Amino acid sequence: MQLNYIEHIGIAVKDLDSAIKYYEEALGLECYSIEEVADQKVKTAFFKIGQTKIELLESTSPDGPIGKFIEKKGEGLHHLAFAVNNIESQLEDAAQKGVRLIDEKPRKGAEGLDIAFLHPKSTHGVLTELCENKQ
Ligand code: ZN
Repeated sequence: MQLNYIEHIGIAVKDLDSAIKYYEEALGLECYSIEEVADQKVKTAFFKIGQTKIELLESTSPDGPIGKFIEKKGEGLHHLAFAVNNIESQLEDAAQKGVRLIDEKPRKGAEGLDIAFLHPKSTHGVLTELCENKQ
């Protein structure tokens, strides 16, 4: 596989507004985008820090992936996302190396990126996202 850089770090939060307030007021970062991804049952808020972004994720439904995560583990680090080129061949490469895929094929994520997740059971516990900006 070839990973270019850390595209973003996903953090599960209970309350997006109060989390945004912390990132803006305490950490001094600026939220540049809020977006709902209906498919994933989340509302996201984005911050830039250098080349990398922080993606805050609030569940819009208790039965969504973030709702379930928070119920089990509480708020905190949720996933690590790498920027890649040619996401389809990166996925193929990962599968060939025995990495379990959550998404066999890329789908649309926040910010119009093509994304796909690798299963934390085969990544030493870190839910790993690959993303490609094809726009
Ligand atoms: Zn993400």
